[in-house]
Amino acid sequence: MNNKESISGLILAGGRGTRMGHVDKGLQPFGGSTMAAHVLARLAPQVASTAINANQNLDTYAAFGVPVWPDDTPGFAGPLAGLEAGMRRAGTTYLLTAPCDSPFLPLDLAARLLDGLTAAGADLAVAVTEEDGRRQVHPVFCLVKASLEPVLSAYLASGGRRMDGWYSQIKVAEVLFEDADAFRNINTLDELHSLDRAPAQARPARLADVVSCLSGYDPDALPVADAQRIIREFVTPVRAVEQVALRAALGRVLADDIVSPIDVPAYDNSAMDGYALRGADLLPGAPTRLAVAGTTYAGRAFAGSVAPGQCVRIMTGGVMPAGCDSVVPQEFVTVDGNDETSAIVLAPGVIRAGDNRRLAGEDLKAGSAALAKGKIVRPADLGLLASLGVAEVPVQRRLRVAFFSTGDELRSIGQPLDEGCVYDSNRYTIYGMLQRLGCDIIDMGVVRDDPQALEQALRDACENADAIITSGGVSVGAADYTRQIMARLGDVTFWKIGMRPGRPLAFGRVDSNGRSAFLFGLPGNPVAVMVSFYFFAREALLRMMGAEAPLDMVRARSTAAIRKKPGRTEYQRGILTRGADGMPEVRITGAQGSGILRSMSEANCMVVLHDAQGGVQAGEMVDVLLFEGLI
Ligand code: AMP
Ligand code: MG
Repeated sequence: MNNKESISGLILAGGRGTRMGHVDKGLQPFGGSTMAAHVLARLAPQVASTAINANQNLDTYAAFGVPVWPDDTPGFAGPLAGLEAGMRRAGTTYLLTAPCDSPFLPLDLAARLLDGLTAAGADLAVAVTEEDGRRQVHPVFCLVKASLEPVLSAYLASGGRRMDGWYSQIKVAEVLFEDADAFRNINTLDELHSLDRAPAQARPARLADVVSCLSGYDPDALPVADAQRIIREFVTPVRAVEQVALRAALGRVLADDIVSPIDVPAYDNSAMDGYALRGADLLPGAPTRLAVAGTTYAGRAFAGSVAPGQCVRIMTGGVMPAGCDSVVPQEFVTVDGNDETSAIVLAPGVIRAGDNRRLAGEDLKAGSAALAKGKIVRPADLGLLASLGVAEVPVQRRLRVAFFSTGDELRSIGQPLDEGCVYDSNRYTIYGMLQRLGCDIIDMGVVRDDPQALEQALRDACENADAIITSGGVSVGAADYTRQIMARLGDVTFWKIGMRPGRPLAFGRVDSNGRSAFLFGLPGNPVAVMVSFYFFAREALLRMMGAEAPLDMVRARSTAAIRKKPGRTEYQRGILTRGADGMPEVRITGAQGSGILRSMSEANCMVVLHDAQGGVQAGEMVDVLLFEGLI
């Protein structure tokens, strides 16, 4: 998109939010961030620069890192005043606007409006859609020549407020967009929340739309980060939710926030074994003597009342007796007399009023979110949910993933290993990695390098699974038909990624008999297949499962120099240990060939050397992905 240099983008967030109950629409939470952030993310790649028109919460908007322009025309004069402010400040030939509540706006909005404007020789291009034969104009999605600002200002000064009120004075082109949903705006909080609960929009529809947003996109030299970004944008979560018993939720993805039905702790209680007392009884300058009125037992509150000058023996977690607000640990008191239930004495200053008491709701208030949607449930979460008395939890349905290996040279375990053949090991590494992610797995075995067999396998996989993982056949090898068949069955692109190992990758969506599935065509080399899985497929599959779980890397000191050329990402197998000073230290395991699975097996981590990085000196810090704990 060369023409984007002539366009500034403006997010219209200047309204009062009246229909949302006077909240600032653009700042409403949506899909893990805010609505305006979504709009910005979709708009920014289409234009040279972006700004936000806002009239309140200016600091918050400024934190988005783009200029914030309030209206010049006072009094919340509507979107047209925002347009005016934008046209005055844009500094480019064109200004493109989108409202802050349109998180699905088309990724080709700028390009198509500009085409329409240019073709018609117009001053302004506006998006229109057709739904059920009705033509709908979307005046807040417009591309306008900034030089027309005086015309607009005169209209505003005359009291005009309608977004299309000044069209009679300029030449307007209407540009038809097919996808009416992309212009959907969100007007009420209810609508926002219901959408946010089901963010699985069947969008973006085409891979071409997604890649068109990357500047300098080259499928034959694609940086790792760009490939990751395209994949992230393209996959959509599965929507189905199931209610499962607490234990069955282990490893599953929460489909909704879990709101605590109770205060935790449910009542004020003691943080120590000791004596509950009234803080007001504590003497500042002399020992305090208190009569022991009784004992609270676990699970049973002290029934009586505690009078001034009295205390109650209490154990950790015991209910604070009425009237008591502090606990003195038992090691700070001397028991007066030989009967420990008679009286205690504590020295001045050992505790202050309020000490060692846990307040009801201190950990978690009833009605607040105990666990957030999208979390993968771990043992601690099971415990937390149990502590709230939650018996069942809503989880995303398991993701169904089909996988197969391709190659005439592959033999399955149990078959004789003919000359020139290798055992199919990818089938097992992929099985292991998918199993750890908690997917439902469909193992389709080895598929021959034969067009019909490949097509049949892909169709079967597509009709039965949400995602398909293949290995082999995606490089430009001779007898590999995989690429052709994949391309024929859907929207699939073939990349050469700037990485080592694992350069070739096929990604997209295939369709068969009305069903579709996301496709990850991984390379055939055994190490490359794992690297590609971890760095491309894993996060995408988790995203489809409704979870956000980016790879977590740690920093470690490299014990030796590592040779590396800038311009691509390298993944070297490493062994992480603790150095003599106790700090993490990593060394590279022997031979690093992409077929040498032993290097993977011996390693306990991968050293990730990023695109821009050159060779590493001994003692330099590097990024490391630990295998242990990796799902
Ligand atoms: P390809 O991308 O199909 O050309 O495969 C690249 C290399 O990986 C070849 O040497 C294959 O023999 C090997 N390979 C492909 N698939 C597998 C597999 N499933 N198990 C082990 N090695 C494989
Ligand atoms: Mg092959």
